[in-house]
Amino acid sequence: MQKNYDHTIYEDKLYKIWDKSGVFTPPTGEELKKSGKKPFTIIMPPANANDPLHVGHALFVTIEDIFIRYHRLKGEAALWLPGLDHAGIETQFVFEKKLAKEGKSRFDFDRETLYKMIWDYVQENTVVALNQLKKMGASADWSRYKFTLDPDIVKDVINTFKKLHDDGLIYRAEKLVNYCTKCGTAYSELEVEHEDREDNLYTIDYGLLKVATTRPETMLGDSAVAVNPNDKRYKNLIGKKVILPLINKEIPIVGDEMVDMEFGTGAVKITPAHDPNDWEVGVKNSLEVITVIGTNGKMTENAGPYAGLSVALCREKILEDLGDRLIEVKPYSHSVGVCYRCHRAIEPLPIKQFFIKIKPLADKALEALDKRNTKIFGAGRDKILRHWLENLRDWNISRQIVWGIRIPVWYSNESKTDFVVSEECPGDGYIQETDTFDTWFSSGQWPVVTLKNNKPGDFEAYYPTDLMETGYDILPFWVMRMMLLSIYLTGETPFKYVYLHGLVRDEQGRKMSKSMGNAINPLELCAKYGTDSLRMALVMSTTAGQDSNMGENKVKGMRNFANKIWNAGRYVVEKAPEDVVINGAKDEEFFQRLSAVVKEVTKLLDQMKVGLASETVYNEFWHWFCDEGIEQNKEKQVSDEVLRMGYKTMLVLLHPFVPFVTEAIWQEIFAKEGLLISYPWPK
Ligand SMILES: [Zn+2]
Repeated sequence: MQKNYDHTIYEDKLYKIWDKSGVFTPPTGEELKKSGKKPFTIIMPPANANDPLHVGHALFVTIEDIFIRYHRLKGEAALWLPGLDHAGIETQFVFEKKLAKEGKSRFDFDRETLYKMIWDYVQENTVVALNQLKKMGASADWSRYKFTLDPDIVKDVINTFKKLHDDGLIYRAEKLVNYCTKCGTAYSELEVEHEDREDNLYTIDYGLLKVATTRPETMLGDSAVAVNPNDKRYKNLIGKKVILPLINKEIPIVGDEMVDMEFGTGAVKITPAHDPNDWEVGVKNSLEVITVIGTNGKMTENAGPYAGLSVALCREKILEDLGDRLIEVKPYSHSVGVCYRCHRAIEPLPIKQFFIKIKPLADKALEALDKRNTKIFGAGRDKILRHWLENLRDWNISRQIVWGIRIPVWYSNESKTDFVVSEECPGDGYIQETDTFDTWFSSGQWPVVTLKNNKPGDFEAYYPTDLMETGYDILPFWVMRMMLLSIYLTGETPFKYVYLHGLVRDEQGRKMSKSMGNAINPLELCAKYGTDSLRMALVMSTTAGQDSNMGENKVKGMRNFANKIWNAGRYVVEKAPEDVVINGAKDEEFFQRLSAVVKEVTKLLDQMKVGLASETVYNEFWHWFCDEGIEQNKEKQVSDEVLRMGYKTMLVLLHPFVPFVTEAIWQEIFAKEGLLISYPWPK
């Protein structure tokens, strides 16, 4: 054996050996049912096909790979099903940035050309993304790999929409949606971030009363003024009319208890087309919806002389034109909804969209949580999930982008009053909906569609899956949606356990970001210190649901651990097994300790305490096996035979965490017994 462990010699070679041996591929569902073997399934969160590997990926690969290797060693049919996501808006956003650099925009191409261009772009990056996962040691079953735009997946996603429609759970309606005029698409409420901003509160004279507003430009679309019916100052004005300044149009004064008597003057303008609360008041009072801001972020024809102006310019002009009807301007800080991609303020706009009636689906998901059919590890986040499920609004699944699965809806006329749900064009004169599905609508069906469109009997044998492991930040976007849609489709919860990992922060606890320059590149660290060192550094800092800190120093430190394992191997292998026993009592003690370590690590992994399990195996190997065991052997108290046995067992326990160095030594010492990756876990 070489003096030091050199990861560059072993990693790629060992990965190829594992891959070729077929050990990553558990039996087909049909074979599994016959064999009676226990399945253990993880569906890999489909990373954005277009994303280079970052530290978040490195963490999820490490944690999931540890569980998969552990259950494989236990003799179970361990299936880790990998895939990638087309990531609709995210990818189109990146692609549009690339176009912009070339001086082009998406509007320079027709739909088909643009789609094809993005497709090719994503294909190029897919190979890179998959190789990066392999570099991290991911022992996933690549023969079952799926992409969210595979034709069989697309077909199933479309069928789900049809089923929802047949069950009366889909409707098309004009509602206020969260629209980003820069990105050119609507978002669900979950994709809107909130930022505190300093703006002004303007008080405007509407004649009979004065109203306070942060958005004077939307007054062009006012259809009423509202006061609280309990407000003594205004109560007798309800039912009367005011003249809208600048437009000179008569609008009614309505009473509504949602009006906060303490805010501004206690009277507010009602613009149903551009504010969610006003929309509600509008529906209750049958008010006219007048859209004055368009999807392009400019004032519409309804804005009369202000048509064509940007929102900001229109505001300036209106403030000027109001003259002495503008009574007061004072600073005002409030929370503003912004686009999670480009951080521009979200414009609530009325658009016709497709919605899923969410309550029947949410009730079933809540039931699964009540019955503990799905249990969540993640520092109390099951309560948050419950809260979301109890308060969900109908899910807007329309997105105004081309990169995705086109909504299978056809209209028989230009006014789009009636529609038919169909994959193919239903007849002459029909036009197809141009919107695509929200990307989470397809990834929300991931556990079902990946298993249904795979090897024979896979769905029947491997569903419900055992573990869903992902970042807590996508609990509402993804985990919740998978519960909603998978239970709807199959009647069963998609996973028994959810393990939520936290964010990996830098050594000072700051969020890692490219722009701050503090992001670590996992692949660089793998190349420098070995994949095992990076994996160990990541997992040893992690607790479900909590953020952890990580930096290069930690990884560097873990290289010492890999060397420690290697050097212990060299010591063990150079000892002749027949040079034996002097004191039986120490051997007995050694065995007892070894069996206690096995029990502890097994227990922690069964309880999904993966960080603690890694610390235990690290400490026991270093401070007990090496510091005490090897020393006692040198003093002829522990026999060579027993030490060798102990080392072998420790290698199996260490393997899920540091797969490369353990397999490399195994092949030096225990090659006769096959591959470590498929050796039985000690009892
Ligand atoms: Zn945006």
